[in-house]
Amino acid sequence: MAGVNARTARIRLQPNRERSLARRHPWVFSGAIAGVDGSPGPGDTVLVQASDGAALGWAAYSPASQIRARMWTFDESQRVDAEFVTAQVHAAAARRATLLAGDTDSARLVFSEADGVPGLVADRYGDTVVCQFTTAGADAWRDVLADALAALPGVACVYERSDADVREREGLEARTGLLRGADPSPDLVAHESGFRFAVDVADGHKTGFYLDQRDARAAVASLARDRRVLNVFSYTGAFSVIAAGRGASAVTSIDSSGPALATAARNAELNAVDIGELMEADAFTALRGLRDRAKQYDLICLDPPKLANSEKQLDKATRAYKDLNLLAVKLLAPGGMLLTWSCSGAMTMDLFQKVVAGAALDAKRTVRIVGRLHQPSDHPVPLAFPEAEYLKGLNLHAD
Ligand code: SAH
Repeated sequence: MAGVNARTARIRLQPNRERSLARRHPWVFSGAIAGVDGSPGPGDTVLVQASDGAALGWAAYSPASQIRARMWTFDESQRVDAEFVTAQVHAAAARRATLLAGDTDSARLVFSEADGVPGLVADRYGDTVVCQFTTAGADAWRDVLADALAALPGVACVYERSDADVREREGLEARTGLLRGADPSPDLVAHESGFRFAVDVADGHKTGFYLDQRDARAAVASLARDRRVLNVFSYTGAFSVIAAGRGASAVTSIDSSGPALATAARNAELNAVDIGELMEADAFTALRGLRDRAKQYDLICLDPPKLANSEKQLDKATRAYKDLNLLAVKLLAPGGMLLTWSCSGAMTMDLFQKVVAGAALDAKRTVRIVGRLHQPSDHPVPLAFPEAEYLKGLNLHAD
């Protein structure tokens, strides 16, 4: 067994708690652990053993997290070293080669557990890679991971945006800044299907742009012609720019973030389109205002931020999703379409559909599902790790 000696730190599981690992699910919860030998520190690689001592593989140890360890490999003969970690990153990047050879230069290169690199998210925008280290394990391998990303062909800059709130659960401080190469360009843009979107690497949401809505952008492009479009939770106006560029008759965008809307205006300029009205407002209040003024739209995009961070917040979040979708359905003109999403991992597609069905019922409208929307191919969902699925949406058509 690679690297196993008397000093190897080990986690011994409770009886029968090896079952999820046998199915290659990568998480070891604190409650599954019977004992820890060798006092491993944050991010150290530990051998995971079943209650009978059988080796199950190697994991990164997270002493502050409920998810106490995340599996690097289920092969106990595999050595977890710089070469292995680098190869994981390069294999993940290689899986995006076809996507990046197509009509975009921007994609998620590494999606954490879904790509066998727990705690690393790395998004590429042209020559710039923006990454987040969200677990103690990824943090411990930060230099190796940064080198691996910097070594990818055509990468000029690796920038860290480890300011996601999930780091708190791991006992990690926020950290941002340049990791490798030259400073990111202030004029950095993501190119996609002939459109250009400004990416604010230092101050934008997540890593600067919502790569996970790529398939939705294609849907909007195909639906926008001659429609009055309302883009709620517009962020930097990607849907608005595409709708305008594809012949929408009018576009309105709502977001509570002034800087996001300023970038939306810049995106309109970059693409030489008129995206109409930008409303800096709370979406709940703004939608009620539009309803009270009897406004009507032919295509509404409703893409709120994560409203439930956990199962515990699901009830409250469900009410918020219901309110938003009720208001949106009421604003649909006869024959109007609603693209509506939840990016809360705790919200299943099944529950989301029920919530939206309740909204349509309350609005007294007949609404049909004509398509379902998902996170795109660079945000894969391993069959053994369904938790990777977080973004789901409905493409709806009202009578
Ligand atoms: N659809 C966008 C991404 C939306 S992210 C895209 O494809 O790029 C969610 C957005 O909701 C963020 O821009 C955030 O500023 C905004 N937001 C959060 N709470 C809000 C609220 N109460 N009212 C309006 N906008 C809000």
